[in-house]
Amino acid sequence: MDRPSSPLPRRRFLQLTGTAMGLATTSACASSGVSVNAGSGPAPTGATARAYTPTRSDPWIELDRAAWAHNVREAARLADGRPILAVVKNNAYGLGDRAVGPLLADMPQVGGLAAVRVEEALAMREEGVTKPIVVMAEADEDEIEEMARNDVLPSVWLDDAPGRLQRVSRRIGRPVPVQLFIDTGMNREGMPHARARGWIEELVHSQYVDVNGTYTMFTHDLDFDREQHARFEELLAWARERNLPLGTLHAAPTYELFHLPEAHYDMVRPGNGLFGNPPGDDKAREMADLRPVFSLKTRVVRVEHLEPGDSAGFNRTFMPDRATWVALLPIGRTDGYPSAANGTCEVLINGRLYPVAGGVNSAHTILDIGEERTVEVGDIATLIGPDHPAVLPHTVAERTELGFLRIIQSMNPRLPRRVV
Ligand SMILES: *Cc1c(COP(=O)(O)O)cnc(C)c1O
Repeated sequence: MDRPSSPLPRRRFLQLTGTAMGLATTSACASSGVSVNAGSGPAPTGATARAYTPTRSDPWIELDRAAWAHNVREAARLADGRPILAVVKNNAYGLGDRAVGPLLADMPQVGGLAAVRVEEALAMREEGVTKPIVVMAEADEDEIEEMARNDVLPSVWLDDAPGRLQRVSRRIGRPVPVQLFIDTGMNREGMPHARARGWIEELVHSQYVDVNGTYTMFTHDLDFDREQHARFEELLAWARERNLPLGTLHAAPTYELFHLPEAHYDMVRPGNGLFGNPPGDDKAREMADLRPVFSLKTRVVRVEHLEPGDSAGFNRTFMPDRATWVALLPIGRTDGYPSAANGTCEVLINGRLYPVAGGVNSAHTILDIGEERTVEVGDIATLIGPDHPAVLPHTVAERTELGFLRIIQSMNPRLPRRVV
């Protein structure tokens, strides 16, 4: 039953959010809830229901195109101009593959994208990404067929890969382009290097397979990385001697992009670094200047005055011994703002910092504003972002003892992403 007063379905709202902002991008982008600030173009006709209003208070994530471009340039500089296979796995580490994938794929230094789920790769194709996309996971025959039909490169490393690829090739009537993942000692994914030779020979010689690339993954233990590199080199030398073409070679995620230049091969394969998370050592900090790429924002929805004796939040979490103002933000744990932020983190509003004091609940956060009413309903609050050292992703990660990745991986996939 349709009630005229019922709120818009989320998807419909997101479509409107996208279209009313003067989108210069494809309609596929609009339908995914990714909006792009492309100036103040006229609102397209056809948006008959409630229009996007810039005063909405629902939290959102901003992706700063200039910061991404900067990090990509830094990565390309470290790699001496080699192309970047940008890793956007796990929903772009939480920031949103449908938004981040196209954003990165637009950059000239990015040669392709790498995901771990078939669904992620297909989502990015749907968003109009035309550059190569590698799925760094083994898949079943149906999934490999789907990837092949959508110009996505599957990875293989299991013993039964030749048979599987043969059956898929028969279905699609052409060789299946794939990437070979070699395990040089991490013992997570990959065909173990010590027994890879016969397997590689079979795949390279198979009329059903087109070997598009070959790669390995490092452990980030620099001494053992060198051992892994030597093992990979030995295998590559063996293949070269036998004229076995292995396609594009790549190996280096962020840590080895910084610390193992001999492993940069044809492309480098960083994720974290592009997301503004370099290795933690001093040397890495000196080698490149990586910037925060996103903000988590919302608007103040309530400002109230407390007298001594009043309290705010569950279990009277905040009990000031002085008169003070409190502000309510409609954002909480389920959006990705950690509960450990209560009593440890601050939020930036109009250039000033306010402590989180009344708890971070599922969908609410209460700030202590202080004696003066310096905040009003509708003001924009930055919980995480580049605008002040106290709200940097790394600061929030440190103060909540969660770590950078835990913070970004917790971002709710349903929050609208806005590219600014
Ligand atoms: C995650 C991952 C990467 C990227 O690693 P970062 O440390 O985020 O740069 C590269 N390759 C593989 C196989 C991965 O799983």
